[in-house]
Amino acid sequence: MYAKKICKCKGLRIINKSIYSNKDLRKFFIAGLNKVGAGHDRVILVHNSRSICHGLADCPGKGIELWLPRPDRLDIRELAYVFEHEVLHNLGVEHKDMSTVLSSCGTKDDDVLAIPNWAKNLTIRIQNRSKH
Ligand SMILES: [Zn+2]
Repeated sequence: MYAKKICKCKGLRIINKSIYSNKDLRKFFIAGLNKVGAGHDRVILVHNSRSICHGLADCPGKGIELWLPRPDRLDIRELAYVFEHEVLHNLGVEHKDMSTVLSSCGTKDDDVLAIPNWAKNLTIRIQNRSKH
């Protein structure tokens, strides 16, 4: 018998290939995972996008891939919906089982959609690369 049980949860792993701040992304992802009620033990790969914000996810699984547009096009509200959408896929939820808002990633009825509460006070800034 083992005296102590080793925790195998490695927590959230972010592979950040985007221009955005690791710290801001982590804060945002943790808030989103908590909102959806998903565990933090995921691997999230973040890229720069040349166009809109979009994503991919294991369904079900632990991997998420996100493409974030450049700062003048980055919309926290849109990213929040895309992220929730991908997290739901991780939990095994398919498009037909999502609400219209989530299955369209917040792109439908743009004007009426508000920023989700969990993302309201969050910002995603560009990574400070002063040491380069
Ligand atoms: Zn999807």
